[in-house]
Amino acid sequence: MLLSASLCVEYGKHGGSVLWLHYMQRVPFVCGNWKMHKTVSESIALVNALSSRLTDTSVEIGVAPAHTSLYAVKKALADDRIRLVAQNVHEAPRGAFTGEVSMEMLLDVGCDYVLVGHSERRHIFGESDELVAQKVRTVLAGGLRVILALGETLDERKQGSTLMTVRRQLTSGLEGLSEDELAKVVLAYEPVWAIGTGLSASPDQAQEVHRALRTQISDGWGSEASTKLRIQYGGSIKPANAQALFSQLDIDGGLVGGASLLAEDFADICEAALT
Ligand code: PEP
Repeated sequence: MLLSASLCVEYGKHGGSVLWLHYMQRVPFVCGNWKMHKTVSESIALVNALSSRLTDTSVEIGVAPAHTSLYAVKKALADDRIRLVAQNVHEAPRGAFTGEVSMEMLLDVGCDYVLVGHSERRHIFGESDELVAQKVRTVLAGGLRVILALGETLDERKQGSTLMTVRRQLTSGLEGLSEDELAKVVLAYEPVWAIGTGLSASPDQAQEVHRALRTQISDGWGSEASTKLRIQYGGSIKPANAQALFSQLDIDGGLVGGASLLAEDFADICEAALT
């Protein structure tokens, strides 16, 4: 089983000559984003097939069904090994927002996490950095955990502004969070050009961005917080490329779209996070 280990060095209180070495272990988290796929009965069948394929519990596993299937999937989960993740939430507590879903509703159906800032929300539905940040706060104030997705477009990568883009998204998305709040956040680095295209980032490309994000967290919240924070990779993960990606030092599992719709493939990907 692979557990990412990071080294954190603290200077001693008296004269700086004492170094304490901490090895922190991060449990990988692999989450399937089913997007606008699967009816209620198909969702139940998929989560049941997945449950019966999973043997190990040392990777955290999540599924994000469509809102219409959340309650049914929660009830179908025979055990609590699989986390229930909502794909979106509205930032307001309630009101005249036709077609939207509130935190109270997601809590009511038993969600554990909410995915915020997915590239399809940002680029198809026009969600700004500011709106994504409001949603992060809404989720945390409501008592759930958040998966904050961020990533650059192909143009931004070609222009060499990948790190500038993800740093901006990170700064905005997590601005003002306490260390306790940060502990309830999982980041998902998802290059937009890799989502649903079959063209994954290479392990080196992904690791470079993950490292930069972790460094930014360290600068803002300290080395211990950054060492604990999990950063998933997302973008055309398949059973064939999962292990190479997950074995990178700063990659702590993945956010999986297309391949999570097939129980066998998704289970293989989860298992790749163990090795
Ligand atoms: C996603 O939608 O978050 C995603 C990573 O999709 P895919 O795995 O299909 O690229």
